[in-house]
Amino acid sequence: MGGGASGAAEGPATSDCQRCNKGAHYIVNPDTPMQALANVRIVLVRTSHPGNIGAAARAMKTMGLKRLVLVAPQSFPDPVADARATGALDVLQAARVCATLEEALAGTSHTIALSARRRELGHRVLGARDSAASLMGMARDREVALVFGTEISGLSNDEAGLCQELVMIPADPEFSSLNLGAAVQVMAYELRVAAFGGSAPLIGKRKTEQREEPEAEPAKFEDIENFYRHLETVMLETGFLDPANPKRLMPRLRRLFSRIDLEKEEVNILRGFLNSLITNKKRPPK
Ligand code: SAH
Repeated sequence: MGGGASGAAEGPATSDCQRCNKGAHYIVNPDTPMQALANVRIVLVRTSHPGNIGAAARAMKTMGLKRLVLVAPQSFPDPVADARATGALDVLQAARVCATLEEALAGTSHTIALSARRRELGHRVLGARDSAASLMGMARDREVALVFGTEISGLSNDEAGLCQELVMIPADPEFSSLNLGAAVQVMAYELRVAAFGGSAPLIGKRKTEQREEPEAEPAKFEDIENFYRHLETVMLETGFLDPANPKRLMPRLRRLFSRIDLEKEEVNILRGFLNSLITNKKRPPK
């Protein structure tokens, strides 16, 4: 499996990949969200359960992140990690293994430490969403890293101290420690949403296809006014609206319908229904 504890610090993002000689994997000055996501490293420090490494790889791949860096993992490569990664074996295979956190962070311009608890480090403490937004802004043209601690004790103060910010996932204060893989998933999701400017596209439709279905024609002012007149006439005819005591029936119905953006077709359905009431009423009983 890829990596190796002796692996040199990753070079500049534009250098050719030493592993596959297929040119640079990661692009500086990216123009697209995917390229910004490619500038993000997920660093797992002293992970004790290989299953969590696999889970993190899967969490990353589902959100378009590919660069996994492992600092002194207890067991890696490991079949348990492979099993938990399922379709994200490629992320595991490309993972870099480092002996120290310093080595893992070499080449980055901004690093954040993920922590389930506050510390007396004097760091700026940010919530997951705010930090993801600012981090993705930076990742457009530089390398950034998110650093996650070991399962039992989290990051040591020295490890967290190597990062510029402390980030917390705003969990229930009574039980705030997420499983490592789950914490990676939450942050990877926030990064993806932030990379796409707050709204990541849904699966199955490319951006160009998103407006494939013809837009429904919205009802015009006069369509809606004609509908209100029609409604009032029918309510008078059926006796539902008493002209001597109209109360605020019409204004309230106007308020009800103005909460929806009625489409022309929908107004036609409503008016067809109103017609059917009158027609049926006039029909002689069987
Ligand atoms: N008991 C440890 C938590 C270990 S969980 C502690 O108190 O720090 C493993 C890692 O998942 C943590 O080191 C942290 O990087 C991440 N993590 C878990 N819950 C988190 C939360 N609510 N906010 C931010 N990171 C969290």
